[in-house]
Amino acid sequence: MASKVYFIKADIREGEKVISEKSVKLFKAGDFGRCFKKNDFTAVKVHVGEGTNTTYIKSPCFKGLVEELLELGTKPFLTDTSTLYTGRRHNGIDHSVLASEHGFDINGLGIPFIIPDGIFGTSEVAVEINGELNKAVSIAYDIERCQSILSLAHFTGHIATGVGATLKTLGMGCSSRKGKMRQHSALKPSVSDKCTLCGECYKHCPADAITLDDVQAHIDEEKCIGCAECVAVCRFGAVQYDWKAQNQELQKNIAEHTAGVLKGKKNRAVFFNFLLSLTKDCDCFNTPDMPLITEDIGIIASTDPVSVDKAGVDLVEEKTGKKLPEILGNERLDPKYQLEHADKIGLGSQKYELLKVD
Ligand code: SF4
Ligand code: SF4
Repeated sequence: MASKVYFIKADIREGEKVISEKSVKLFKAGDFGRCFKKNDFTAVKVHVGEGTNTTYIKSPCFKGLVEELLELGTKPFLTDTSTLYTGRRHNGIDHSVLASEHGFDINGLGIPFIIPDGIFGTSEVAVEINGELNKAVSIAYDIERCQSILSLAHFTGHIATGVGATLKTLGMGCSSRKGKMRQHSALKPSVSDKCTLCGECYKHCPADAITLDDVQAHIDEEKCIGCAECVAVCRFGAVQYDWKAQNQELQKNIAEHTAGVLKGKKNRAVFFNFLLSLTKDCDCFNTPDMPLITEDIGIIASTDPVSVDKAGVDLVEEKTGKKLPEILGNERLDPKYQLEHADKIGLGSQKYELLKVD
């Protein structure tokens, strides 16, 4: 059966207040309040944007949705786990300070920002899923314990998975450090002869997996945790992956970790994708004014995490007249693997009905 995906046109240039009001319109049109109950601990999954990133979705855009949850009598908290790669979201303390600077806290939105896997990313619980790649997955403890989730994802391109949207924000963004390492374990980069010995990858590798000799950088596969930091920082295109095989496994792993995040929360979770400021790379990039892949499209929401991502991909492809790998300039970056696997393991459906809201 096709799932319902609600869609409203929007453009970030309309202003944060209008984006907030349009989000509430979608919330009401989908009757999503039914998924949240009085006294629920409700995780509001956000991405606060890396330090100098300017294209993440700003906190005032979420004000209306937070107010809806408060009116329903839930105990909502803004949340995100810390990252494997270095940067201002690398541990719970730096991440919380950055969240406050970007308005994701009690002063900005009237509810606290709480890291769900602890300061060091080790507060976790193993959730049994009996998937194809994982019998159990390591999920952030406070995400597993809460009763309901409102996921607010910025839809963007992604360097390793084609798109970063709901499945990515939940599968990777709600896993503990161990869960993230498990998902990335198949991604092992190598260094080509384009290397200029600039040393940036060596400085940023969180696993001390990189050494430099007189000619180029080298990666120790045994130590590498596959976090892709070296790919992100190399300005010379010298770090390469065997994208095809490994990218597929990463995407399947993301779908299985999302299944762990949502286990026991059927009809207790709502997923928003913001197709605004559609950048080629995700909000983890510590880069201002990143180039856009297309003009703003709008906001979509559903109780089906697979449908909402499939609808996002379709809307972007319809708008550009191109397939995602072509848009991203890399034929191997096709998000279809996460969608197909998520559908196969029963996380949701790729079949959906798009309901337009004025
Ligand atoms: S070598 Fe591995 S662990 Fe180090 S930055 Fe690159 S992907 Fe991450
Ligand atoms: S960042 Fe790129 S060019 Fe610089 S040392 Fe690493 S692989 Fe070589």
